[in-house]
Amino acid sequence: MAATGRRMSRRFYHRRNTFMYSDRVSVHIVEHPLVHDALATLRDATTPPELFRRMAVRISLLLAAEATRDIPSESVRVGTPLGPAEGRRVSGGVVVVPVLRAGLGMLDAVLELIPTARVGHIGLQRDEMTAIASQYYSKLPADLRGSFVLMIDPMLATGGSAVAALDLLKHAGARDVRMICIVAAPEGVALVEQHHPDVRIFTPAVDCGLNSHKFIVPGLGDFGDRLYGTT
Ligand code: URA
Repeated sequence: MAATGRRMSRRFYHRRNTFMYSDRVSVHIVEHPLVHDALATLRDATTPPELFRRMAVRISLLLAAEATRDIPSESVRVGTPLGPAEGRRVSGGVVVVPVLRAGLGMLDAVLELIPTARVGHIGLQRDEMTAIASQYYSKLPADLRGSFVLMIDPMLATGGSAVAALDLLKHAGARDVRMICIVAAPEGVALVEQHHPDVRIFTPAVDCGLNSHKFIVPGLGDFGDRLYGTT
């Protein structure tokens, strides 16, 4: 069984459901039962790609809702059939950045929640032997400085890709960055902590660790391959 953040509490301390990983990076462990129900299906090796994709969308919606609790919003007045009502609308300035290719499996879900978000793309390729990430593509919206940035990358494994993507975002001016991932490894969390202590990570699970191929154990296998049926 996977070690969750709660079980790994020797390196975490708990404040509400935010685990402070050492004393800097905050890892927000999302505990909603619907998230964990979808995660169990994603982990199951017998889940076919079409169901895997549906569960990836479902879990991404739920995780994005959690990661955007403090998204900027403004008061509005709308007219119901019975009269005026006060409401709130999400302000502009949200940028979603999937890390290719696996992050694309989470993008539609986030855009379903925040249709006005602008989208950047970062393409990183992991060398199969060394697991070192190299960038092959980057296209980001202008003026990230004042934006609420959501980086989406389902598997936080070694942390190499996450740190490279976060470096790019910060160089492009991003200041307020959250990362959403579906499964994390302690090694990845630690590397993000070391390089980007201001970035908050939202995930339902921090697993046991990495195997010799730098895959998360127990994890769910290769997310991109399972999503696109390219195993
Ligand atoms: N990428 C994946 O898709 N799975 C892992 O376990 C690690 C990186």
